[in-house]
Amino acid sequence: MVCASAALVAAGPADAAAGPAAPRVEVEIPGPEQGGDAGSGHALVPAAGGPAKSAGRLTEAERSADGEVTKMIDNGSTADRLDVVIVGDGYTAAELPRFHADAEQKWAEVAAVEPYTTYRGLFNVWTVDAVSRESGVSGDPDPATVRDTALGSYFWCGDIERLLCIDQPKVDAYVAKAPEADLVIVLANSAKYGGAGYNEPSATLGYEGISTASAGHPKSGQVAIHETGHSLGKLADEYFYPGVPDYEKYTGPEPGESNSSGLTADRMAAQRAKWYRWLGEESPDGGTVGAYEGGNYYVTGLYRPTDNSLMRVLGKPFNLPGVEAMIAGFYQHARIATALTPTDRTLRLRNTAKVAVPKLSGADGRQLVVRWYLDGRELKRFEGRTEVSVAELWLFDLRTHRLSVTAEDRTPAVRDPKTIRTLRSTVEWKVRL
Ligand SMILES: [Zn+2]
Repeated sequence: MVCASAALVAAGPADAAAGPAAPRVEVEIPGPEQGGDAGSGHALVPAAGGPAKSAGRLTEAERSADGEVTKMIDNGSTADRLDVVIVGDGYTAAELPRFHADAEQKWAEVAAVEPYTTYRGLFNVWTVDAVSRESGVSGDPDPATVRDTALGSYFWCGDIERLLCIDQPKVDAYVAKAPEADLVIVLANSAKYGGAGYNEPSATLGYEGISTASAGHPKSGQVAIHETGHSLGKLADEYFYPGVPDYEKYTGPEPGESNSSGLTADRMAAQRAKWYRWLGEESPDGGTVGAYEGGNYYVTGLYRPTDNSLMRVLGKPFNLPGVEAMIAGFYQHARIATALTPTDRTLRLRNTAKVAVPKLSGADGRQLVVRWYLDGRELKRFEGRTEVSVAELWLFDLRTHRLSVTAEDRTPAVRDPKTIRTLRSTVEWKVRL
């Protein structure tokens, strides 16, 4: 997405230091602290570097603490879960216990927002300790403040006070220490309002994006959640720029994002397009789903599903189409049936087939549906079980059979049949007498 008013920023001191040829990345700028906007456009910022300060050397003791990986929340195998990696910046070795407390608290904020709440069992959360020589980050409280930190975090990025940038190669070096990263959160040891969304997927480490947030500011967590709307949900911004000439009227093709459309509600229903399945439904962010004009930065010509979702206003929930997109994003990275009994050898009479299925934690108490099949025929008596012994199958011949188990999510929060097909996983074993 290209840049609105705030995005056409003059080169700040950081940019000058990095030089004109230095690679740049696009980041989303959080909305101002006063006022509810979730974001306020994008800026191209240096991928590496920041305010210049020669990095000092870590002591022996600091070096031994640096880079330590902890599985803060363990919900199962990395291959089948979304792995969130949290790295702190501006924490000295002595402050690492507080980094861990800050990481716990920030994840609790994320997990309090639906659909994260219901699906928290699909996530592992890792912390990677980054030891900084100085406490706090650059640009706090003012642009003249420069600190020697592990990840080079700095406010006043691109001359915007609340834009909290990082040195991405330095972040990546720490992220790479975790077994896997689907999403990265960088927590700055600061109470100053700010953040940034780096929403380009990593070509080398595979994660969907980096959200930066100051650990000590309550609004920062909301900025980070909004950014995951882009990185995991592939959602568009639902805010727009009144009074900015280039963003008065959209005349381009239908946008690719699921929550942005050039269609009015009537035309959307007639064409069975975008979020038509949700039109008229009560949305958790307030009001009913419709086609509200303004969104994806444009004042007219584009519509958003609800007036004030988290993709427009901080502190709000996702709207119904947003929740559906987030769940679709979760299932891009998570599998809900994990074989606990290896599937690479034939199970015999004394063996038991075991599967792990995550618990859902939604207010409605709904759980995943677990069903067993022998040679494709359902064994209804085993529904809901997570282990079945071969002896219970009453095999009566000497052939090898297929025993399979399917976990399925029948959430009413997903209505698109294409997505519904992704909300299941199957594990299969060979069994014989
Ligand atoms: Zn945004």
